[in-house]
Amino acid sequence: MENCIFCKIIAGEIPSNKVYEDEDMLVFRDINPQAKVHCLCVPKSHFATLSEMNEQQAEIVKKCLVKIPGIAAELGLSDGYRLIINQGKDAGQTVFHLHIHILGGQDLGEKLV
Ligand code: AMP
Repeated sequence: MENCIFCKIIAGEIPSNKVYEDEDMLVFRDINPQAKVHCLCVPKSHFATLSEMNEQQAEIVKKCLVKIPGIAAELGLSDGYRLIINQGKDAGQTVFHLHIHILGGQDLGEKLV
């Protein structure tokens, strides 16, 4: 997708600090970390939000969720972690290519939920 920063990262046109990659997803460190460990799990297929997701893309998100525990273990997040998907304006979504935040490496403190 033209002008999508995450598509450019996936294509290797913009550098990233890669943690994991396979045919369906790329996981890289967030450029502005909100916790000691903060990575983004990004499906390679471009869609902006959950409401735009088709069945095939939903399968890829499922694969992401299946892979994340192993990736979290590799990242040393044995004491737990938090996954966040910001969906739309009210959630503060800034990059409109669906991604799952993986946050951990510390006590994440007060919870919204
Ligand atoms: P969201 O606000 O949920 O859309 O999250 C977008 C995230 O992408 C933010 O946490 C940004 O810090 C992160 N981000 C933006 N550009 C880059 C980049 N070039 N490399 C890594 N993370 C990025």
